[in-house]
Amino acid sequence: SKPIVAIVGRPNVGKSTLFNKIVGRRLSIVEDTPGVTRDRIFGDAEWCGRQFSLVDTGGLEPASRDVLLTQMREQAQIAIDSASAIIFVTDLRTGVTATDQEVADLLLKSGRPVVLCVNKCDSVGQPPVEFYEFYNLGLGDPVMVSSVHGHGTGDLLDRVMESL
Ligand code: GDP
Ligand code: MG
Repeated sequence: SKPIVAIVGRPNVGKSTLFNKIVGRRLSIVEDTPGVTRDRIFGDAEWCGRQFSLVDTGGLEPASRDVLLTQMREQAQIAIDSASAIIFVTDLRTGVTATDQEVADLLLKSGRPVVLCVNKCDSVGQPPVEFYEFYNLGLGDPVMVSSVHGHGTGDLLDRVMESL
């Protein structure tokens, strides 16, 4: 059976945009309002001849940082329990947040393979200085991605396939 790859991350980091880019169809709703993906959405995908199921996760727009953290913990736990590999999406523009660090710690403890995606790296070339902060999450080398343009998604999927 096909391995499941789950996309995890805070609202508005670009999970659904990345999901749609990889699946090649617009199954997931992308909104400027954080957290509009209410349910889990599954899509079939293939990379280098290997098939997998990709899962986009969401959650309602949180009312507070506490609620966000609770939602993120639940989202991460579902991914840990059900996925063979996890893509943890972060946002170059916001930088590393306290919530990112908490989720990274959870994922790391789980022992599941995790690939760290720094999304919204829209300009190609040398990484901007802000990029290096993401090494502090302790999840290894982050991958520069622009889900809107598609840059870096190939590198990201290479890393996911290596981790499976
Ligand atoms: P989600 O809540 O994590 O699923 O995030 P969405 O996919 O709904 O995206 C939230 C916002 O970020 C939308 O306005 C997207 O167009 C924007 N976005 C997503 N990926 C990128 C990217 O690579 N670059 C830029 N500039 N914006 C992005
Ligand atoms: Mg979404």
